[in-house]
Amino acid sequence: MESANFIEDIINEELASRKVDGVYTRFPPEPNGYLHVGHCKSLSINFGIKEKYNGKCNLRFDDTNPTKEDVEYVDSIKEDITWLGYKWDKELYASDYFDATYEYAVLLIKKGFAYVCEFSAEQIRATRGTLTEPGTESPYRNRSIEENLQLFTEMKEGRYPDGSKVLRAKIDMASPNMNMRDPVIYRILRAHHHRTGDKWCIYPMYDFAHPIGDAIEGITHSICTLEFEDHRPLYDWVTLHCGFTKRPRQIEFARLNIKNTIMSKRYLKKLVETGFVAGWNDPRMPTISGMRERGYPPESIREFCARVGVAKANSEVDTSLLEFCVRENLNRNADRAMVVENPIKMVIDNMLDDEIFSFEVLNNPNNESSDTHTIYFRKEIYIDREDFKLNPPPKYHRLTEGGMVRLKGAFIVKHISTELNAEGNPSVVHCEYIKDSAQGGVNAKIKVKGVIQWVNCQDAIDCELYQYGALLTDATETVTDFNQRLNPDSLTINRSAKAEPYVLQGQMNKVYQFMRLAYYKKAVQNEGVLRFYLVVSLKDSFNK
Ligand code: ATP
Ligand code: MG
Repeated sequence: MESANFIEDIINEELASRKVDGVYTRFPPEPNGYLHVGHCKSLSINFGIKEKYNGKCNLRFDDTNPTKEDVEYVDSIKEDITWLGYKWDKELYASDYFDATYEYAVLLIKKGFAYVCEFSAEQIRATRGTLTEPGTESPYRNRSIEENLQLFTEMKEGRYPDGSKVLRAKIDMASPNMNMRDPVIYRILRAHHHRTGDKWCIYPMYDFAHPIGDAIEGITHSICTLEFEDHRPLYDWVTLHCGFTKRPRQIEFARLNIKNTIMSKRYLKKLVETGFVAGWNDPRMPTISGMRERGYPPESIREFCARVGVAKANSEVDTSLLEFCVRENLNRNADRAMVVENPIKMVIDNMLDDEIFSFEVLNNPNNESSDTHTIYFRKEIYIDREDFKLNPPPKYHRLTEGGMVRLKGAFIVKHISTELNAEGNPSVVHCEYIKDSAQGGVNAKIKVKGVIQWVNCQDAIDCELYQYGALLTDATETVTDFNQRLNPDSLTINRSAKAEPYVLQGQMNKVYQFMRLAYYKKAVQNEGVLRFYLVVSLKDSFNK
């Protein structure tokens, strides 16, 4: 199998040397928030390996922190992964193994590899030592196995207050790796758990529960982000001393960082709680549900992850790469529609009041086999204010006084006169259309520099355009804090736009290219309201 990155190199080697006879990965989210674009990277690696090697991948919720977890998050995580197009083999929870994990802790105690310590969190920190100095051993470290067994049982039975005792692995207080200095593996915590209820008042720590979950499930490659590199010796210690014969291998990769993008569930949660955004799925949020609500196709997010690649060193990706992938997908797939953002009326002087021309246009000119729809040209139409100028700037290729322009999908028109309002600005533009200048007509070849979109006034549909900007402003030398960088103009609403009636036909969530404007998703359509969300601009700022 051709390898795409260093993880696949490792897998290929292990398959070739028969160290493993298949690959089994897992995606282990903590259900304490919604998944964000960073998680897509991990999903793409773990499920990508499953798909490529015909292996398996479990979805395992790391629910060892009952105070922060919730079923709402479990449900959203499943929905998001499914939407991205990934299929997990088993849905499991760290809490499924609370009994087993407890038994492994007892086994460690029996082997002399764990002890109950009465130190407070503060005392444990104070005796841990530093990177340059060893820690000091706890006075409880050499308790007898019997005493440890009894105390641990009593911890489980709820005989001690929260935080009064912990179970620690007995490893090496002088280890150069701080994680190996007798880490805590169980703590007392009276908290209601969203799955096990009030059954437990002691909970395993992630560093203990995680390797056990992996080993029980037969995971071959436990892929995680670089922060866990220093935890790997502990990971290996746990599976070794708990006596697993088939031991998973932990492999670390660099997490995905995107410029100006918040990728901390904790902070995203704050944005939701303070009401700065409408919810976890606000289209400005870098969450998977936010991107779905925004109208990003799932394939474009997968493509983004593939292009970012898998690296061992941290780096930062530009948001424009994600937008590039979205735009590339939509350019191929989105149907085109005409919408005028900022309308000004144009009257075609040489047409009768009730005269109509109709034209068939391809819904998606990038796809010759796409359906067509009809556009109707009438005496009164709207064009965009920006597309007519009395005093045009240099290189202005649209309509000017006495000039000509092509109306997309219809005729060439020639400017005749302009009505001005009280402020002296154009209020109505008068033109004449050039006969036989539509596509295929004898005058179609007349040279004009510009093509502009339009909608006829009689059939035009009022719509609202929700236009999104970045949630964060750029960091400066003095302003780096997220709180100070929240962009107050991240949402502006245009309520004066006019659309061709074709946009009424599409189902909800359909994404269109509004020609010459941007890609927009149909977000709301009910009596009196037709609302679109800006998905992504047409312009490509990504530098290949
Ligand atoms: P947060 O710090 O935002 O809570 P987390 O890392 O604690 O994120 P988890 O739910 O533990 O979130 O993440 C599930 C998986 O996704 C983990 O394997 C984690 O390493 C991975 N992951 C999280 N963020 C990123 C990221 N930015 N890039 C790549 N993988 C990530
Ligand atoms: Mg985590």
